[in-house]
Amino acid sequence: MHRAPTQEIFMTDEKYSKIVEAIKNSRRFVVVSHVNPEGDAVGSLLGMYLGLKGMGKEVVPYLEDQLPPLYDFLPGSKDIVHTLEGVKDIDCTIAVDCGQADRLGDNFSSFKGKGVFLNIDHHVTNDNYGDVNLVVPEASAAGEIVYDVLKAAGAEITKGIAINLYTAIHTDTGSFRYSCSTPEAFRKAGELVRAGADPWDISVKVYENYPAARFKLLGATLSTLEFTDDNKIAIVHVTLESIKSFDGTKDMTDGFVNYARAIEGVEVGVLFREVKKGEYKASLRSKGRIDVSGVAGLFNGGGHAHAAGFSIKGNLLEVKAKVVAELEKALKEQSSPSPYPLPVGERREKL
Ligand code: 5GP
Repeated sequence: MHRAPTQEIFMTDEKYSKIVEAIKNSRRFVVVSHVNPEGDAVGSLLGMYLGLKGMGKEVVPYLEDQLPPLYDFLPGSKDIVHTLEGVKDIDCTIAVDCGQADRLGDNFSSFKGKGVFLNIDHHVTNDNYGDVNLVVPEASAAGEIVYDVLKAAGAEITKGIAINLYTAIHTDTGSFRYSCSTPEAFRKAGELVRAGADPWDISVKVYENYPAARFKLLGATLSTLEFTDDNKIAIVHVTLESIKSFDGTKDMTDGFVNYARAIEGVEVGVLFREVKKGEYKASLRSKGRIDVSGVAGLFNGGGHAHAAGFSIKGNLLEVKAKVVAELEKALKEQSSPSPYPLPVGERREKL
């Protein structure tokens, strides 16, 4: 397995030095991340924003979507803008945590004055859309790469930066539980704690501070739970009507898919979230026996081996059938026995 870059090697790695050179040569920046932003997107964006500002640069932090209120506590979050109208004379645009340019948003795509376009990401499915691409799939989170870049560029890692980058790593490693929790991820998290990130305070703000509506919506979503015949795939769905009926928002469904995967014997958990009539956002979570980024790729999506997603058109029955068929094919092609088998005699509600 490749190791994530360490402080010792990044200075000599050509991809890093090109990024650092572009940063040093630029004065005015836009920093951007993907639509439906989550912890790594927001933390990496704001970590980079504060790092560049600390180096005396002028920086516009941009997200096409509104910030989920959960992340309001992150230093710099109040500065995020959602329009690039009137923004000009940009020397350099940095995208973080985004595998495909179209996931930065339609309005961002039509922004013409990007300057040098840097793509900093950790998705194995990244299609290298930047002028300079720094894609490190071994990194647990884009926040890890931002940390390396800022250190290489000579930025001081302040408490504000540390809180953002720790949040990025903490959320994308599933609180240091996922297989991407490498020694490098722990090392950088440790350095960020030393620089002022408080693990308990961040955990409470991210995981123990949900609006009550989220739990009502979770209850309704879990009541949709279905299984394939062999119980290896568990599916839940959430409709727009359900979100509306609990006064919820779409970002509240973040993490719901993990409950489907968390069931004994289940290899893959799936969440279908209705985006608009006839269109769903699919989230896939694997325990590791199949690589769900490959399945997401079949539907023009992407992600990681254990967590991937895509958008799909059709009614719920159709999209369920299509996605489940591909997942079953992938599970069949994978001949190794499951390390997490279902206990004999277990019965489940079938699809
Ligand atoms: P989630 O299921 O939480 O939305 O996303 C899981 C992973 O899949 C994340 O790394 C996310 O960036 C990626 N992902 C989710 N939706 C899409 C999509 O529509 N396109 C691509 N390329 N990646 C996605």
